[in-house]
Amino acid sequence: MKCIGPHNVQTWICQILLVISCLLASGQVLASQLSSDSLKQSDYPEVADKTIVEILDISYDLHREDLAKALAYVDIALERSHEKENLLYIFYGLRYKGLYYENNNQLESALDEYIRALEAAKKQDNNELILTIYTDLAITHRKVGNYQKTKDYNLKALELAKQIDHKQAMEISYHGLGFLYETIGDYDKAIEMYLQSMEVADALGNTEGVITTMQNIGITYTKVNNQNLALETIDKAYQLALEHADSMRIANVLLDYGNILANNKEYDKALKKLDQSLTIFKKSHEKSSIARTLVQLADIHTEKGAYEYAQNLFLQSLTYSSYINSGDYADLYYKLGQLYLKKKQINQAEQALQKSVKIAEEHNLKDLIQENNYSLYKIYAEQGLYEKALKHLMTSSETKNYLLNEDKTKRIAEMQFRFDSEKSEKEIQLLKLRQNRFLLFGISGLFIVLVFFFGYTIRIKGKNNDQLANKNEEIQAQNIKLKESNEVLKQFAYVAAHDLKEPLRNIGSFINLIQIKYGQQFNEEANEYMGFVKNGVKRLNGLLTDLLEYSQISSQAPENDKVVVGDVLPSIRRSLRELIHSTDAIIDCPEQLPTLCISRTHLTQLLQNLISNGIKFCDRQPIINLDCYRENEQFTLLSVSDNGIGIDPSYGEKIFNLFHRLDRATEREGTGIGLTICKNIVDKYNGEIWFESKEGEGSTFFVRLPAQARTLSDAIVENNQQNNLLLPVN
Ligand code: ADP
Repeated sequence: MKCIGPHNVQTWICQILLVISCLLASGQVLASQLSSDSLKQSDYPEVADKTIVEILDISYDLHREDLAKALAYVDIALERSHEKENLLYIFYGLRYKGLYYENNNQLESALDEYIRALEAAKKQDNNELILTIYTDLAITHRKVGNYQKTKDYNLKALELAKQIDHKQAMEISYHGLGFLYETIGDYDKAIEMYLQSMEVADALGNTEGVITTMQNIGITYTKVNNQNLALETIDKAYQLALEHADSMRIANVLLDYGNILANNKEYDKALKKLDQSLTIFKKSHEKSSIARTLVQLADIHTEKGAYEYAQNLFLQSLTYSSYINSGDYADLYYKLGQLYLKKKQINQAEQALQKSVKIAEEHNLKDLIQENNYSLYKIYAEQGLYEKALKHLMTSSETKNYLLNEDKTKRIAEMQFRFDSEKSEKEIQLLKLRQNRFLLFGISGLFIVLVFFFGYTIRIKGKNNDQLANKNEEIQAQNIKLKESNEVLKQFAYVAAHDLKEPLRNIGSFINLIQIKYGQQFNEEANEYMGFVKNGVKRLNGLLTDLLEYSQISSQAPENDKVVVGDVLPSIRRSLRELIHSTDAIIDCPEQLPTLCISRTHLTQLLQNLISNGIKFCDRQPIINLDCYRENEQFTLLSVSDNGIGIDPSYGEKIFNLFHRLDRATEREGTGIGLTICKNIVDKYNGEIWFESKEGEGSTFFVRLPAQARTLSDAIVENNQQNNLLLPVN
């Protein structure tokens, strides 16, 4: 997928090192010199007659299966290198040790070795080696979650690369910075860095680099839900690959293309791209890529509800199991297990999940251990196998606690890093502002001396200017603080809602288990109390889910996808299938509906909330009518009407307030957040939302949206207004 993504940078560097090693080995340069015996060597007679380079090669092949032995081999190589005072081999030995630790997820030890390797590189004054290690250190620090250090090492590498005009290293450093910002969710900066990397790659004539960076940019756009730009970018990468790249790169781009389309819920187009990619991988016998593509195809078929097809693809992918890494292997069984559950093939599901948990435990893959155990708990609880169920629930909950702590630490580190770097940038902005003020004072002082006789008027003006400048600066500083605290609040709401869900899920699971196991011994009153607890858990869970959605929507920017209104209906029907099924609801809309300039996700959320309300708040068979037409050049009007219980019009705007529910709603499920989300979305596009209703007959919700996409300058002006930013004085 990303050939120069940091993982691949490492593979790439590693390959170069191996090539160098092979060259040296084939030259037999040191074969005779490096055969002296050592203490360690007596423990490992199999490497006694090998050269240092050969020993390193052997250790490399072995390091994933037997880390201890691989490290012992490197120690032998290092001992010999020290004897020969060969700094280059000492460097390689230390770097290999770092790499082995890193690949075995022992990151702190990896960092220690890399630091030693850096010293060895510095002793030799070898800039290429220093650059390599800076990159290793940056990648490993990112994995640990030391984002500041990651940035420092990438910047060090960048500076050195610029000094010695090493374009390729510059490209890699920019790429590393892009990946760092992508990791911590600062997508604007990520794209900025990727673009720099692309520029250098372009200047170097490295089309492959340009294409892979474009892939990364495309993926980054999907993360900010900007599907249009994501598709545009990946399509460009694809065209470029068709013109210039080899078939493997084309297949890689197609894979990303398929995923971006799937993310945009354009499943059929996605399947086409992935099929093309699969054909290429098959022709080239790229087994691990074949396996990966099969899984992605299966995921889409699962999403589409084509379970048989999906199952077939998962099983095909399993035939390539020896080419899949342990994480993907365990994940494959997990997905297969989930699919069997959907198909109600419980025995097969259990087997697949057990297999997945086994692989996950062998490789310490915590999230899969947790997910699998949770699914197994549910299976056994339903079968009445309480002891087994409890065992799996305990493991799941212990692992989840561990993961939550880890996740929290990581998220705090991300937030801290973003906060620190944004703060330092803002401090620079303020400093510049102050400098400008001093300049303004200087110039106006000089001006006053020169035109002294205009004194009075000019001085008054100067004073006003001065006061305005002061005020402006003060307001800007306040704005910055306000934005920061808003950001922290949003993050807090998200983190709180997210983290509260897990303990709640545990309470729900244990209550379930208690009821299944001891329910028969309870009297009626106790059973009733249990019912209250279960209801409470369910309601709180719904509340947290909606709060999460609300806090996510608040922080999303509006987008100008061109979406045909009817196109989002299938996915809404899928999400609401249980509600539709249980109420026999009919959802109707004209065949031809216009196109809206709105993010597909936003339109889906908006309509889904309105439609589900129409079904929920209805005492007969719900009939929902969706309509949309162009009112005039400027506006499109969308309406969702129902035949439900209706709303007393005197409630007016209040029903769009957070947590606001009408009296008659309390016996129905809900949280009072849905309409607030709708209003929030509509506000983003400068639209309007209101309702008309007759109690007992039904309600119609209207949404008026601007027909045209907003231009970038509209967005900037609006953003400034929202943040109350004053235009600069003068
Ligand atoms: P929820 O549906 O979770 O209660 P909403 O924010 O979506 O929350 O709606 C707020 C309240 O507005 C509902 O509780 C209900 O009282 C009322 N309401 C919304 N839509 C309808 C509708 N179509 N018909 C009747 N009442 C509605």
